[in-house]
Amino acid sequence: MKKILITGAAGFLGSHLCDRFIKEGYHVIGMDNLITGDLKNIEHLFKLEQFEYYHHDVTTFVHVPGKLDYILHFASPASPIDYLKIPIQTLKVGALGTHNLLGLAKEKGARLLIASTSEVYGDPLVHPQTEEYYGNVNTIGPRGVYDEAKRFQESITMAYNRFHSLETRIVRIFNTYGPRMRLNDGRVIPAFMGQALRGEDLTVFGDGSQTRSFCYVDDQVEGIYRLLLSDYDLPVNIGNPHEITIRDFAEEIIKLTGTTQKVIYKDLPKDDPMQRQPDISKAKELLGWEPKVGREEGMRKTFEYFKTLSQEDLKRTAHRDFADRNRK
Ligand code: UDP
Repeated sequence: MKKILITGAAGFLGSHLCDRFIKEGYHVIGMDNLITGDLKNIEHLFKLEQFEYYHHDVTTFVHVPGKLDYILHFASPASPIDYLKIPIQTLKVGALGTHNLLGLAKEKGARLLIASTSEVYGDPLVHPQTEEYYGNVNTIGPRGVYDEAKRFQESITMAYNRFHSLETRIVRIFNTYGPRMRLNDGRVIPAFMGQALRGEDLTVFGDGSQTRSFCYVDDQVEGIYRLLLSDYDLPVNIGNPHEITIRDFAEEIIKLTGTTQKVIYKDLPKDDPMQRQPDISKAKELLGWEPKVGREEGMRKTFEYFKTLSQEDLKRTAHRDFADRNRK
């Protein structure tokens, strides 16, 4: 049985990856320190012999007994509100955490896939973003702690690949959504859906002309799975190229949820990228991958999930300080 370590296992993407590798017949070790993760996302796996959970912070030495075939490094805060609340941990998990996992991969002869991000492109001057674009990042802005940690993560991963001949893979993940997103992570989809469920107005930041391209989680997981098993070691974009302005997206959510509330406008957070759309030619060509789930279907499934959350969960998220996002 192949053995895989997944860091950030209790998070949104990490937990879906655990499910997928269990389904594929792997022995899965899920690791998390639960700073932003939630055990609820993986509690259904605890009864399985194929699954083990290690509560551990990967920024300190990582020990796993026995053999290890693969490592997926998905531990990291991943929303702009989190970077502001826990900036040092964000830097450390991308930098020190990645270093520890590279060391572990080298020791075990395992293949390591790291979760990079479209944020390495910053506020892009090239559209859509191809893997060859070097990016436009503000190193000292509020997002810098995430963007630069992820850029460093790519550098150190390639250094281990070239210097130690380590087998590595780099996925650049574009905005991804689906069940198990944290309702209070401040990202636009849980924010709008939470607002609709609480009967609040939908807060669009700026004039809403900025764009994003949203990928359903099942498509994302399929792309990551294929990339891990491929023999390509340079970065690959995985995301859905179907781009939409945030203003139009708010209207879509109003229709989907049937809320009678309206859109209200707030300040645009600092360094908020104006446009984002992946060029997925590489993923298509190398992995035979492209997204299959349209926004309507994906958003419906996601809303169904948020509807199952308790009133308490909803209330707890009602008083987010969105002004936080504008702190310099
Ligand atoms: N956004 C918004 N209202 C919200 C939360 C986010 O208009 O309540 C905007 C945000 O300014 C950004 C886009 O939605 O332009 C996506 O934000 P998110 O935090 O989901 O992801 P990222 O900016 O990292 O792509």
